[in-house]
Amino acid sequence: MNFRGKSAVVTGGAGGIGLQVARQLLAAGIGKIAIIDLQDNLEEFVKLRGAHPTQSVMIIKMDVANKKGVEATYEEIKKTFGNIDIVVNVAGIFNDRDVQRTLLVNLGGIINSSLSALQYMSKENGGNGGLVVNMSSVVGLDPMFIIPVYGATKAGIINFTRCLGNEKFYQRSGIKFATVCPGATMTDMFTNFTEKIIFPETSDETYKILDRLNKQSATDVARCIMNVLEKEKNGAVYVIEGKRIVPIDMKPHWTGKEPAL
Ligand code: NAD
Ligand code: MG
Repeated sequence: MNFRGKSAVVTGGAGGIGLQVARQLLAAGIGKIAIIDLQDNLEEFVKLRGAHPTQSVMIIKMDVANKKGVEATYEEIKKTFGNIDIVVNVAGIFNDRDVQRTLLVNLGGIINSSLSALQYMSKENGGNGGLVVNMSSVVGLDPMFIIPVYGATKAGIINFTRCLGNEKFYQRSGIKFATVCPGATMTDMFTNFTEKIIFPETSDETYKILDRLNKQSATDVARCIMNVLEKEKNGAVYVIEGKRIVPIDMKPHWTGKEPAL
């Protein structure tokens, strides 16, 4: 993947890992980037535009849980950019005490944005195809008992993205789908962590676990996501830890599997 002159969409790009992905895409020469986020981060956006005056930086304030809103956002981006080549879906929250919101933002948001990407990027609809990378987590692969609701959304993201990464879909749409599963990363997501867990009796244990974890930086994770974009491997799932990407072999468990479509 050569980023020069390409167009990208990054959800959750106002902070944390998403902002670093936007930064690195611009540094790699992406022509146009649209950042979709609930929040404003004017200071950072002014900096991004200042550092890359010849590249387009479009900022859209939108809740990824809002299906109609996300569709309208993609329509606007497509109209403005002419084409969309890359989508990195990063937006997500941690708050296991708000089950509905966690499901709607984390899993719903990825589904909304991925399906809109399909609609606006597919070769079947006059697009050029491209690549969508969806943000899961290591806790979507290996259950972490203190955060079951968040973990369930992240497990769902892996399954959803692997379905869309089916070769048959790719042949029609020309769009590849990959999943990334970072380990613990230093961002705002850990703020007031123990107030957002569902079982308060696990909070002592939670503190201990959080302390013990090796936390990587958002910049390191973003660099790994750039690497995943470069690899362009349809259906792949990667763990991101220790500044590197590790492809995961997702072995089938069900022997009575239906033949492929
Ligand atoms: P963060 O809170 O720093 O960044 C999340 C960004 O998403 C923010 O800019 C926020 O405004 C935006 N956002 C939240 N809800 C939104 C919504 N409904 N619509 C649009 N934008 C929304 O957190 P982060 O650590 O950078 O997390 C980014 C992603 O990485 C999340 O999906 C998270 O689950 C995942 N992740 C984080 C870690 C970690 O340890 N921090 C590990 C693995 C995966
Ligand atoms: Mg982020």
